[in-house]
Amino acid sequence: MKLGVLALQGDVPEHRTSLERVAGPGSVTLVHRPAELAEVEALSMPGGESTTISRLLDETRLRDPLRSRIEEGLPVLATCAGLILLSREIETVAGPRDPVPIPVLDVTVRRNDYGRQRDSFEGPVEVNGLTGAKFPGVFIRAPRILRVGPGAEAFAWQGKEVVGVRRGRVWGLTFHPELSGDLRLFDHFLESTLG
Ligand code: GLN
Repeated sequence: MKLGVLALQGDVPEHRTSLERVAGPGSVTLVHRPAELAEVEALSMPGGESTTISRLLDETRLRDPLRSRIEEGLPVLATCAGLILLSREIETVAGPRDPVPIPVLDVTVRRNDYGRQRDSFEGPVEVNGLTGAKFPGVFIRAPRILRVGPGAEAFAWQGKEVVGVRRGRVWGLTFHPELSGDLRLFDHFLESTLG
């Protein structure tokens, strides 16, 4: 299995470690450039700063090949800033620095909607398809999903709020499974999308 982690900015090492713990040592390629993207069978897009990652997608010329591979069916697990970058609509907050998404998930998100860093929190998440205890959701300056359109399916909730959506093999989470020590979501994603 050849898995990729988009390695432009953010919690790249934690994604790599989580995927390697599920799929085995050596299974992960860090993706900094188009040639690396071309080799992977699935990709995770870590959290970080979506404006920065958006800019780096252009500087590295990864944006167009990434869009093409996603349209061709590449499984993607996008978390937090990663989800923002795949949202059809990002509600504009102040300033000209909104990230530019590859708009494949039919959702509207609002960045930093739970507050600042000190308002980050942990809470139990109900995930369709996971058995056992609720998933420990770690929310760090998380976006809020304001709308789920017909082109996306909600599959994870924290209370009444949708915190996970997917369209086929493209999954987006507002929280950070790589920081929870619970590997079930990575496992479930790989199992469901690559079988
Ligand atoms: N607040 C960040 C953004 O808007 C996302 C935070 C995260 O990925 N943990 O890009």
